[in-house]
Amino acid sequence: QAKHDGGGCYRFYDTGLKQIAQEQRALLRDLREAIAEKNIVLAYQPIVDAQTLAIRGFEALARWRRPNGGSVSPDRFIRLAEEAGLIEELGDWILGHACAEAATWPEMLKVAVNISVGQLGGRGFIQRVAETLRRTGLAPHRLEVEITESIFMDADTSSFGVLEGLRDLGVGIALDDFGRGFSSLGFLRGFAFSKIKMDMSFVRDMIHDRRSAAVVHAVVGLAADLGVVVTAEGVETLEQLDQLRRQGCTEIQGYLFSRAMPGERIPHLLEELRRSGSVEPDAPADDY
Ligand code: C2E
Ligand code: MG
Ligand code: MG
Ligand code: MG
Repeated sequence: QAKHDGGGCYRFYDTGLKQIAQEQRALLRDLREAIAEKNIVLAYQPIVDAQTLAIRGFEALARWRRPNGGSVSPDRFIRLAEEAGLIEELGDWILGHACAEAATWPEMLKVAVNISVGQLGGRGFIQRVAETLRRTGLAPHRLEVEITESIFMDADTSSFGVLEGLRDLGVGIALDDFGRGFSSLGFLRGFAFSKIKMDMSFVRDMIHDRRSAAVVHAVVGLAADLGVVVTAEGVETLEQLDQLRRQGCTEIQGYLFSRAMPGERIPHLLEELRRSGSVEPDAPADDY
């Protein structure tokens, strides 16, 4: 319903919009509180060697359940935290927590932590990462930061400088969701990433779609030529695993092996695998 506001213009008057704005405010209020009270938790998803199926590490994934019981996807609350200027506080907490957790794992296991645009561009990011590693005692090579190309979209090229600083610390740097955007190839040329994580959509479609399969083939070949690890995300079926292995993909991550799990479960998982001598796909844990 359009209402004449007397000022010579017409504007929509809608209680639906008002409700959305109200919900948005409530969401932000809850998020602020959750960050202040550290009510955001991390779940860890195994990353597995494609050939031996041995666990190489875990990716830390943020989880948030609101006081009203609803869970909000990290894609959404991370973006909200960015917009509200809360990302540095949240990001620092996530990084510190993931490093501390990983420091308790066997030494051959790494932890991957997602880093968003606002975090990377924040002042003193490299120093804060260095300080976190010192404080938690995690060896730098056991940390891998995952970034997406969106980092280069809105930011200037100084992002490359931050990445170089991180690499100089000895930290691994993965290009996440590779292929989802439009200009990833340029970034691969501009910076020596240590890993490429192939976007899930290709893995999902490769079995049925010849063009997706061709892209997977090309990305695996590209990674080999660059001498970097390539991880396939979102692997859900044995058929996908089989095809990715034959293509020469280095690492696998997906529900076929496990969903993300609470940190407390990791020692049990490792113990189970050690005892059974088996690294075969396990019954997936409930997502969390
Ligand atoms: P991402 O970094 O690409 O993480 C992979 C996402 O794929 C995760 O979703 C994971 O749960 C999901 N996934 C893994 N295996 C499978 C599978 O086999 N099938 C399907 N359908 N999905 C699978 P999640 O946890 O909802 O996270 C979504 C995104 O939110 C992440 O994408 C990442 O970009 C962002 N995110 C999550 N945690 C953090 C964080 O701590 N910091 C930042 N900056 N971003 C985060
Ligand atoms: Mg990631
Ligand atoms: Mg990804
Ligand atoms: Mg992502």
